[in-house]
Amino acid sequence: MKVLIIEDEDALRKPIRLFLENKRFEVDEAEDGKIGLEMARISNYDCIILDLNLPEIDGVEVCKRLRDEKNTTPIIMATARSQIYNKLEGFETGADDYMTKPFNLEELVARIKAVIKRNSLNKSEALIFGQYTIHPESNLVISSNSREIMLSNKEMGILEYLLRNKGRIVSSEELLEHVWSTEVDTFTQTVKTHIKTLRKKVDTQKELILSVKGKGYIIR
Ligand code: CA
Repeated sequence: MKVLIIEDEDALRKPIRLFLENKRFEVDEAEDGKIGLEMARISNYDCIILDLNLPEIDGVEVCKRLRDEKNTTPIIMATARSQIYNKLEGFETGADDYMTKPFNLEELVARIKAVIKRNSLNKSEALIFGQYTIHPESNLVISSNSREIMLSNKEMGILEYLLRNKGRIVSSEELLEHVWSTEVDTFTQTVKTHIKTLRKKVDTQKELILSVKGKGYIIR
């Protein structure tokens, strides 16, 4: 799962980033509203943590613009206690949740998972993959005869993304953008390698994850 933190205070942004990375999220950060908005437009995030008071473009405006552009990425608004009156405004502009600073990081993670889940429930049915059920939180794939297969973070990231986009061809570039943090230098060859190890674990016959030559991968 990939998260964007838009927050101008280093002292807040850095610990959030570290905490989320420890919880196996991919994390990007932006230190003002303008950069944050651009990043949210270019990359495909699963959740955005958005500060209200930001240089360049404030949080409410960032949220408003994304929603105007039909960007449905879940947004959690974060603001100082003194600005509690902004809560309503936050929801009105299309934020999915709201947290008052300073917040408990465990709670933040719980909220992130909740908004992502809500968002994906809107999008698709349960994550069923052939004879398997998929459990992204634990990186487990469980077969119909209850055999448990452990995937790596990236393998699960790829599988989950393909499943959430079932029926559509997903390019290696899109997988890179979605599953890897933008700071890491990655190449489409990396995706290929991970698809290979993923197939070895759950799709040895290559019947479920199909390669479409020159275009990408699809789960039908
Ligand atoms: Ca701020």
